[in-house]
Amino acid sequence: MYILVAEDDYTSRTVLSAVLRKSGHEVIETVDGADAWDRLQEADAPRLVILDWMMPVMDGLEVVRRIRARQTERPPYVIMLTAKGEKADIIAGLNAGADDYLAKPFDPGELHARVEVGRRMIEMRDALIESLEALAHQATHDPLTGLLNRRAILDCLDGELARIRRHGGRLFVGMCDIDHFKGVNDTYGHQTGDEVLCQLSRILGENLRKYDSVGRMGGEEFLVITPVNSDIRHAYMFERLCRQVARSEITTRSGALSVTISIGVTVATADRTVDDILEAADKELYRAKNAGRNRVVLNGQCISQESEARAS
Ligand code: GH3
Ligand code: MG
Ligand code: MG
Ligand code: MG
Repeated sequence: MYILVAEDDYTSRTVLSAVLRKSGHEVIETVDGADAWDRLQEADAPRLVILDWMMPVMDGLEVVRRIRARQTERPPYVIMLTAKGEKADIIAGLNAGADDYLAKPFDPGELHARVEVGRRMIEMRDALIESLEALAHQATHDPLTGLLNRRAILDCLDGELARIRRHGGRLFVGMCDIDHFKGVNDTYGHQTGDEVLCQLSRILGENLRKYDSVGRMGGEEFLVITPVNSDIRHAYMFERLCRQVARSEITTRSGALSVTISIGVTVATADRTVDDILEAADKELYRAKNAGRNRVVLNGQCISQESEARAS
């Protein structure tokens, strides 16, 4: 483990470090509290710190207070060094946020045992954080395609609306639906259908800018949100997306397939709600389907390659 030893007393520091290194730990040493505090704020900071109480510039107690005041996911585990028998010091150190203490002069066996307790606590905390992160990912992502799920993409739309209310601008919101997807399932089976969904998701993701968002609304429907400042021509990105999907070869267990999508696009301004944006995009999608599929409809009009060429 990577351990910081902050101790101004030369002998104590040297013995501590030597014992820890002998147990296989990587140790860095500092001789004052301010330096220790600086080291602990670095990106790859030590996870366990052994802090002397009395040190120049900043004492150990102040370092602990600062560590605890800083809200981080992975704070260091702190062992305070105290003079033997100073009960009041132990209590003050623990109250300030130290995890454990070690009386000076220390016993190597006790040091080893307390560092091991720290290591177990750090590992437990890391495992907990990892499972919380995995849960958060599961709660917001679609397990099949890895895209944002319905709830997350709608939250994202809500967030984008709040943003344009504050900063202006507007959004294009496109509801994308695979054409005749039932036919893919019926002809090749559901597993092939699933592969098509995954690869289409990848194509959508690859063809968006980094500030655009895409999520799976359910089934074979995807929502794309793209913020714009003013240029209506930006809507042609949906047309390019549509063409890109149509020309992409999708490799599946049933061989290479191709699918098309229809997209209904609506312009979302600050006064709109999530519900009426979805309703409007759905209406446009319905028109795109009725007009023959494999196309994009915005404001009741198909937007095509030719209209893009005319507009630019
Ligand atoms: P349209 O062009 O009108 O959109 O026709 P469509 O066949 O795509 O539309 P329809 O709504 O009739 O069918 C959607 C199909 O999507 C039906 C359903 O079996 C399939 N589907 C929904 N979710 C999944 C999934 O997770 N995996 C697979 N393989 N198929 C799915
Ligand atoms: Mg000291
Ligand atoms: Mg559908
Ligand atoms: Mg469909």
